[in-house]
Amino acid sequence: MEKKAPLLTGEKCPECKSDLVIRKGRYGVFTACSNYPTCKYIKKEEKEKIIVCKCPECDYDIIQKPTRKGKLFYGCSNYPSCKFALWDKPTGDKCPKCSNLMVEKGKIIKCSSCDYKK
Ligand SMILES: [Zn+2]
Ligand SMILES: [Zn+2]
Ligand SMILES: [Zn+2]
Repeated sequence: MEKKAPLLTGEKCPECKSDLVIRKGRYGVFTACSNYPTCKYIKKEEKEKIIVCKCPECDYDIIQKPTRKGKLFYGCSNYPSCKFALWDKPTGDKCPKCSNLMVEKGKIIKCSSCDYKK
C-alpha cells in the first residue's frame, strides 16, 4: 500500500473525533476520516461535488456550490486561496474576445466579463 501524508483539513470527524483528511478517489477528491477503515465517515457535500470546468486563474476545478440561502453559484475549489466565482454556470469555453469564461444565462451563452454573446 502506498503511503502518502494525507492532507489535513483542520476539521474533526463528527463520529470519532479523528482528523479529517483529503483523499483522492475515482470521482475526484473528497474529505474523509483519517481513522479509515475503522471509521467510514465521509463528508457528504465533498463527495457529491459537481465539477463544472477548470478555473481560468489557478487551474483548479470550478465546482457548483450552494450559498447559505440555497442559491447555487460556481466557485473555485482552491478557495480561499483563489476567490474566483460566478453566479452563472460556466460552459468551459472561453470568450473569443477577452478569453474569460463563457457562461449560460437561461438559454443565452454569453461572456462572464464582456458583452460578447454566442
Ligand atoms: Zn471518524
Ligand atoms: Zn481558482
Ligand atoms: Zn468576453
